[in-house]
Amino acid sequence: MSLSLEGKTTLVTGGSRGIGRSIALKLAELGADVAITYARSADAANKVVSEIEKMGRKAKAFQADAVDFSQAEEVISSILEDWGKLDVLVNNAGITKDNLILRMSEEQWDDVITTNLKSIFNYSKAAAKPMMKNRGGSIINISSVVGISGNAGQSNYSASKAGIIGFTKSYAKELASRNIRANVIAPGYIITDMTDQLGEKVLEGIKAETPLGRAGEAHEVADAVAFLASDMSSYITGETIRVDGGMAM
Ligand code: NAP
Repeated sequence: MSLSLEGKTTLVTGGSRGIGRSIALKLAELGADVAITYARSADAANKVVSEIEKMGRKAKAFQADAVDFSQAEEVISSILEDWGKLDVLVNNAGITKDNLILRMSEEQWDDVITTNLKSIFNYSKAAAKPMMKNRGGSIINISSVVGISGNAGQSNYSASKAGIIGFTKSYAKELASRNIRANVIAPGYIITDMTDQLGEKVLEGIKAETPLGRAGEAHEVADAVAFLASDMSSYITGETIRVDGGMAM
């Protein structure tokens, strides 16, 4: 079997920039039609849509706040109306609001937990019935290595990313009998806008802690997502795959 997504319809949340953008382009490159959501970056999202269309695939962009359950339902209903089914959901949208616990505000905690964790519930729940009707599906949730190891200054982010792993295992157990698989990708340090602000000193420290000795690139996360989206991973569910250069080994 080769790694093909020919004929699959897919949705990537937060597909306008960074890792989500790379995932959207990779899924299209492998033959899928791809819808993306974004929060604010309409221009960037429209550019992703035209890049996908240039590959000869269908594409759509939705401005939809990932924390809002009814917007998740609307996005998925619109995909079903136009494309008839949803085969693959990639829950990628996420933010950081770092601070030490003693300084962290309630708002910083709530924003990160709702954007990163409630969003996963929103889209996974909204996708469940259509995937059951479709007699199968694959959900890929983007966590982080800090959800496994923890990180000083990121208690909110680490909690949200650890929560994703627990949620995914429960979801995988509930829906396995319906041929719906759910897995997690836990990236390490990947160069995107999110990590841009960390500075040279932090980057050097991260490289030193990474056995492969370098930061990762978004397309390296996208490759692992493509595998979990495809039928090549048909016997894998409830799993977490680290894409971190060995960092959390
Ligand atoms: P990024 O470059 O900051 O991009 C974030 C994406 O999420 C954008 O498309 C953004 O849309 C979207 N987004 C943010 N809040 C949203 C909301 N409320 N509703 C809908 N969309 C929203 O981040 P990234 O580095 O690519 O990270 C992508 C995922 O990988 C996140 O879940 C992150 O936690 C995870 N991750 C990243 C790294 C890393 O090193 N970069 C490591 C581990 C895990 P707009 O463009 O409209 O703002």
